[in-house]
Amino acid sequence: MTESTTEQSVFWSPAVAQLKPYVPGEQPKSTERLIKLNTNESPYPPSPKAQAVLQEDGLAAHLRLYPDPESTQLRETIAAEFDLTPEQVFVGNGSDEVLAHAFYSFFQRPEPLLFPDITYSFYPVYCQFYGIESRTLPLREDFSIGVEDYAVENAGGVIIPNPNAPTGRYLPLAEIEKLLQLHPERVVVIDEAYIDFGGESAVSLIDRYPNLLVIHTLSKSHALAGLRLGYAMGQAHLIEGLNRAKNSFNSYPIDGIAQKVATAAIADRAWLADNCAKVIATREWTCEQLTKLGFDIVPSTANFIFAKPTKTSAEALFLALRERNIIVRYFNKPRISEYLRISIGTDEEMQALVSACQEILQ
Ligand SMILES: *Cc1c(COP(=O)(O)O)cnc(C)c1O
Repeated sequence: MTESTTEQSVFWSPAVAQLKPYVPGEQPKSTERLIKLNTNESPYPPSPKAQAVLQEDGLAAHLRLYPDPESTQLRETIAAEFDLTPEQVFVGNGSDEVLAHAFYSFFQRPEPLLFPDITYSFYPVYCQFYGIESRTLPLREDFSIGVEDYAVENAGGVIIPNPNAPTGRYLPLAEIEKLLQLHPERVVVIDEAYIDFGGESAVSLIDRYPNLLVIHTLSKSHALAGLRLGYAMGQAHLIEGLNRAKNSFNSYPIDGIAQKVATAAIADRAWLADNCAKVIATREWTCEQLTKLGFDIVPSTANFIFAKPTKTSAEALFLALRERNIIVRYFNKPRISEYLRISIGTDEEMQALVSACQEILQ
């Protein structure tokens, strides 16, 4: 195959020729000597109970047969964890896949889907993929979501991450309720990829709101980005909608080993609480240190911070850190091109980041 990223191939369908795919953060082939603070992974290994599953004898024997297409045990475990029934839980191969099914199942409508101007950049990609119209609503000056802005007539649905990405800002549950009440006949998706780092989940609202779908991932707080496991929670009629899409696309999205590892990880509540507490403590320390160095930092309830250096440009600092083998995320986009998104690493990694910034800004 010849390298051709810009030229289109005659074999592509017109739809594929028009796609603008999502570009994930850099995953270097070797992370030796590299401090990787660019994709919000956990700096610590996953629960020992999840790791132990991979040491079990005869694990490979599971690979001969197809896995349980319904991931029954995993869904039962998630349901028990959140006081739901298994019919209120849907699992997918990463929350990105769950999101894709949600866009397909609920947002393909004549009216536009609403989301913030600054948010997870996969949302516009799914809109394009499924031909969904969208309308972005600007975050306020301080990067908070103004819920009153979502009171637009004829919306096809609403999706927001809470806490938002890449800002890290959290929207209280009372505000989420207002969103749900603004569009009672449309689905409101709350993408809670970072909820375990200090926020309160909207799961508690599921009983009262038939239009609420909450999406979680094991990639961040559970330290299992490589496993690819995400899930959605909502009333059974929404989950049934997702199942119709899933079973028209791939009946076996979760392999048998992933089902077992994820089940063990979710059941280990104590590990999750401890892991998140460590990350939160390191986040607060990092914020203090970078504030002393003159950064403006958006209040974060996530495992990353959104920080604006005031003594140099964000891009210059991004490049200078890269030279010192520290990778953070820089978005060359309107309104946020003066900010860096920095994932929270171990204490040692964040000390190295602070020292590097000090040196660069001298
Ligand atoms: C990381 C992230 C996801 C994707 O998570 P996966 O489960 O790894 O696909 C979804 N939404 C937001 C806002 C994220 O930051």
